[in-house]
Amino acid sequence: MYLHGTSKVNDQGHLEIGGVDATQLVAEYGTPLYVFDEALVRQRCREFVDAFRASGLKFQVAYASKAFCVMAMCRIVEEEGMSLDVVSDGELYTALQAGFPAERIHFHGNNKTVDEIEMAIDAQIGCFVVDNFIELQLLNAIAGDKRQKVKVLLRITPGVEAHTHEFISTGQTDSKFGFDLGNGSAMRAIKEAASLSNLDVLGVHSHIGSQIFEVEGFRIAAEKVAGFAVQVRKETGIIFPVINLGGGFGIRYVEGHTPLPVAVYVEAITEAIKENFGNNDYPLPEIWVEPGRSIVGDAGTTLYTVGTTKDIPGVRKYVAVDGGMTDNPRPALYEAEYEAMLANRATEQSEEVVSIAGKCCESGDMLIWDLNLPKVSVGDILAVSCTGAYNYAMASNYNRIRRPGVVFVKDGQSDLVVKRESFDNIIGNDLIPARMKQVSTTR
Ligand SMILES: *Cc1c(COP(=O)(O)O)cnc(C)c1O
Repeated sequence: MYLHGTSKVNDQGHLEIGGVDATQLVAEYGTPLYVFDEALVRQRCREFVDAFRASGLKFQVAYASKAFCVMAMCRIVEEEGMSLDVVSDGELYTALQAGFPAERIHFHGNNKTVDEIEMAIDAQIGCFVVDNFIELQLLNAIAGDKRQKVKVLLRITPGVEAHTHEFISTGQTDSKFGFDLGNGSAMRAIKEAASLSNLDVLGVHSHIGSQIFEVEGFRIAAEKVAGFAVQVRKETGIIFPVINLGGGFGIRYVEGHTPLPVAVYVEAITEAIKENFGNNDYPLPEIWVEPGRSIVGDAGTTLYTVGTTKDIPGVRKYVAVDGGMTDNPRPALYEAEYEAMLANRATEQSEEVVSIAGKCCESGDMLIWDLNLPKVSVGDILAVSCTGAYNYAMASNYNRIRRPGVVFVKDGQSDLVVKRESFDNIIGNDLIPARMKQVSTTR
């Protein structure tokens, strides 16, 4: 397993993260457990911010909180001076409760509800990223009712295909998101938005996909967006003060994944903006980006305890852990790949090839196929790396399994930032109709 950030093998032959022995974390908090290397999260934040600062352009780096949205994470993002994207009232609520400054919050989504829009306007968030014509009218009407003027970016689909898994590609024409550039709806949307008196159009937004390993997609997106901005200026006189180029910066989950250093993505974006806007005598806009995965992905490690094994001679050996698709649905959803090691026997040589199964009643509940490990025993601690993004965020209670706790580790200290769910959390919203209660008490 590749050791990210502060992860290392210590003198006891154990995996250590943030200066804390993984076996100690397990003794204290149990398994499964999500562990975040706080120093690595902060390092990634700073890589983005520093690279933009070096460009000389005005910028905002907005963490796409959907990747991992808990109050302690919002605190980090706030402390690192970044902005925050939310896509639901739940994420907005989390951020506000964490004391995140509302003016640095951007609200995304292709179907924001009336309640969500009202909540966000009341909180005075910084910006809405408007996705469609219905939302344009709705937002204008609600803002009018509240006698507020709201800032908006319009999400456009620039027709750029990022090289990635189809399910997580959003820049192409056939997408549920945004106003299409190619068929003219983006231009119509700008004109309509400009005519709505309660909206203040800051510019446009484009997000071309996820887990992108090349700069080319961002360059093309910048070029298309600049071309559009120039066209808009020509037809309407409107000049965009802001251009948002989204997220999607890739990370290394397994060998063969070759992400670029954050600074390289940022430099490609800022250069492309300077070139494409500068060459058109267009005032250089403020650049916003929205990294999610690349901020938290490689900082997360999930610890599991090994339970049963099933050896099918000549076929494969299954090793089951005490979690699975409930805490990490990505292998089942996207055929996502992960690396892992035995955290309690980190220096031992690999001796067998096993496949890691989850504990859910679902054959598709597999975490890793064909993993090299030392001879595995019951009670070993399996550490799966790179689980910081879209794991806790996508976790479920399937099979009524309780969601694991989340711990931040840093400089030899561990802090619980999300408690493991209790049985009462599991049944907390269940109600038994009175007529059924009667039956059960008379038995
Ligand atoms: C998901 C998403 C992001 C973040 O994507 P990552 O791949 O996690 O960087 C940013 N912007 C928008 C609009 C998104 O939908």
